[in-house]
Amino acid sequence: VADYFQGEWHNPRIEPYAPLSLNPANATLHYGQSVFEGLKAYKNEAGEVLVFRPDANFRRLNESAKRMCIPEVPEELFMDGLAKLLELDREWVPSKPGCSLYIRPFVFATDDFLGIRPSQKYKFMILTSPVGQYYAKPVAVKVETHFSRAIEGGTGYAKAAGNYAGSLYPAMCAQKEGYDQLLWTDGKTHQHIEESGTMNVMFVINGTLITAPTTTGTILKGITRDSVLTLAKEMDMPVQERFLSVSELKEALENGTMQEAFGTGTAATIAHIRLIHIDGNDYSLPEKPRDAFSNRVLHKLDAIKYGKEKDPYGWVYR
Ligand code: PMP
Repeated sequence: VADYFQGEWHNPRIEPYAPLSLNPANATLHYGQSVFEGLKAYKNEAGEVLVFRPDANFRRLNESAKRMCIPEVPEELFMDGLAKLLELDREWVPSKPGCSLYIRPFVFATDDFLGIRPSQKYKFMILTSPVGQYYAKPVAVKVETHFSRAIEGGTGYAKAAGNYAGSLYPAMCAQKEGYDQLLWTDGKTHQHIEESGTMNVMFVINGTLITAPTTTGTILKGITRDSVLTLAKEMDMPVQERFLSVSELKEALENGTMQEAFGTGTAATIAHIRLIHIDGNDYSLPEKPRDAFSNRVLHKLDAIKYGKEKDPYGWVYR
């Protein structure tokens, strides 16, 4: 925990998990100035704790903070806080394969007022929780063409609390219809695929890996996405960062050129997609061969995270 007031961060400290006391006029409750991150720590066979790409989470937290008028968190505060917390939480990092310690850094406004303006006071906190596998089974997703998650010029690229609040209702409707998640389309024309609710999405069509670019500012720049794209190059997998239109997606599912579809994210790492709903129709994906790209890249990524394979990109912090 650290507190921001009078233009500076103060008093970094470790506190036991406990309720917070907030005033009814707390700015976050009314205007949603709140940003967060999600990353994981793993234990290797020697019992060492390894953290995956915390530097990337640190940078993204501050990109999100800037968009929400929240002051930057200094790198030292983020990294030292994380290191101290992990030292204390060592025994909470599971050593069971597939399990990890989920880490949630977040910053939110703590000022009390009712006028609309940026808060002058904030709290930075990091909390942790041991977690197992997120999706044990392949998921069914629905292409959303009515509601929007993000629009150009909006806040889609930020990991801001309000983005998730706005996504809950459409996701809940899809879940009632039996789908696990939405595949969001662009907020303007609803004609191309952007990402899912908690993951970036990738497709293998005719042997090429296709994923949406993050240049429009409407998609979260996933750290798993970046890791998979980096490994894809190393694995000689052809990659296209471009928008896939809904009609192209439908065609690939109909004519059998769609070989794999999967989500990428910290929680799930790789979540295989077994079914895609488009415009009233359910399309099942073919059974994946064991040497499918998504299986191979998942294996490689896990091996790096658990310290079993060398780490040429410097992704793992000890
Ligand atoms: N998109 C959204 C909307 C997300 O919430 C997440 C999870 N952070 C992702 C993509 C994947 O990002 P990452 O790989 O950094 O977890």
